[in-house]
Amino acid sequence: MPTPRTNLAAFLVNSAERRPDRPAVVLDGATTSYAELDRASARAAALLRASGVRPGDRVGLLLPNVPAFPVLYYAVLRAGAVVVPMNPLLKEREVAYHLDDSGSCLLFAPLGAEEALRGAVAAEVPCIAVPDRGLDDLLAGHHPEPELIARDPADTAVILYTSGTTGRPKGAELTHDNLIRNTEITRTTLLGLTEDDVVLGALPLFHAFGQVVGLNCAVAAGACLTLLPRFDPARALEIIERDRVTAFLGVPTMYGTMLLTGRDPGGTASLRVCVSGGAALPVEVLHAFEEAFGCTVLEGYGLSETSPVACFNHPDRPRRPGTIGTPVLGVELRVLDPDGAEVADGRTGEIAVRGHNVMKGYWRNPTATAEAIPDGWFRTGDLGVRDPDGYFRIVDRKKDLIIRGGFNVYPREIEEVLHEHPAVAEAAVIGVPHPTHGEEVAAVVALRPGADSSPDELRAFVRARVAAYKYPRLVRIVDALPKGATGKILKRDIVLPPESF
Ligand code: AMP
Repeated sequence: MPTPRTNLAAFLVNSAERRPDRPAVVLDGATTSYAELDRASARAAALLRASGVRPGDRVGLLLPNVPAFPVLYYAVLRAGAVVVPMNPLLKEREVAYHLDDSGSCLLFAPLGAEEALRGAVAAEVPCIAVPDRGLDDLLAGHHPEPELIARDPADTAVILYTSGTTGRPKGAELTHDNLIRNTEITRTTLLGLTEDDVVLGALPLFHAFGQVVGLNCAVAAGACLTLLPRFDPARALEIIERDRVTAFLGVPTMYGTMLLTGRDPGGTASLRVCVSGGAALPVEVLHAFEEAFGCTVLEGYGLSETSPVACFNHPDRPRRPGTIGTPVLGVELRVLDPDGAEVADGRTGEIAVRGHNVMKGYWRNPTATAEAIPDGWFRTGDLGVRDPDGYFRIVDRKKDLIIRGGFNVYPREIEEVLHEHPAVAEAAVIGVPHPTHGEEVAAVVALRPGADSSPDELRAFVRARVAAYKYPRLVRIVDALPKGATGKILKRDIVLPPESF
């Protein structure tokens, strides 16, 4: 594929030229056309310029799925700057960390978002409040910035925070080229999206899956993206019926909870394609969903670091439920042993990825980048198998990560918070199986000699300091944690009774 100087925001400019009056974004029945979205983002680019934002600068975007997200996302890109999307559920210290680490010069956050504002103050970064209803006041006096700043393909477009295989969240730098190619390949070869499609934007747009497979694919196709700011299974089914949604993207928990609503499935007849990713989709859920809602579910696999789609059950190849399918166009997957040698088909090893979708590196972290991509192959931290027919399966996770209802929780981050409690001597945070969330966060803690605390107190302590989806629902106090010869805590040896929930 050619790689001219370009900009990811060209997807929006092109669609606005081709079909100005068609709906681009819908929220609560209110529609923004492509011409309106394009004009608003060009005006927001002028606002950014007036605020001193220059090409290459980082701009934080902490917003739920509202029309202001695409407006400001494409505005930052138009200005040649780098988007740093953040989860709107983050607490003050988490926001401050993301702003500090990325060196962002500005933050956009919803009007009245106290934690975000305090985080911006702590990081000494100016915050622009985004009103609920429309950006007119914010953009008053700013005329559309005609210029779309051309970027080199290898220039960074977006920095997505993820912990990789270990440690605190790091910024995966995704380039314009990474994102343009992953969008186009996903849109054309996997989803077959056209301007007649209506995509349900239920996945958070700050995350790679929702941002690329939802937002960028829809905008590149000139399709309509109908937004759902907070996932609710009954509401999702209502919107599918109301807006005649043709493409649904979700994490396994969403499929599971939609099934539990027991709704009359007649309303979902418009659905043409459903995609599951982000965590393993149980085969029973896949089959039950297909039967109840009369549509095909295709499972894919990827990571923030792979922009995100790497492997997929392609619509034009035989489908193999329980697998993640075959590598997407221009991307290779291998299964490696700990020495980096490829293992035989049918044997388990670490999945590694090579191709145009692999990130440039971790932002300002050459050590972590070299560890993750030592030889051109990105190590995913996922354990998998290649079957003799070339289909891949994920069997386990080597890395320290909990995926709760599709949201990533990095155990190390929660352990650090627990260690701030004066009574805590040792802490291990682990994922335990949960019927609807897939995994639930649990903490096992040993107290300092003579110190006193309780599971309730420790849970409340963490809850006050991190986003609500991350705090451990289950806390157990034990005498000592299992350790290996080097003193390292052996998380795999921690056993919690299933009746804990
Ligand atoms: P993120 O960077 O937030 O996109 O998280 C990526 C991680 O999600 C991967 O490394 C996997 O552990 C997990 N994941 C994504 N898709 C799948 C899948 N289809 N099956 C199992 N795990 C998955």
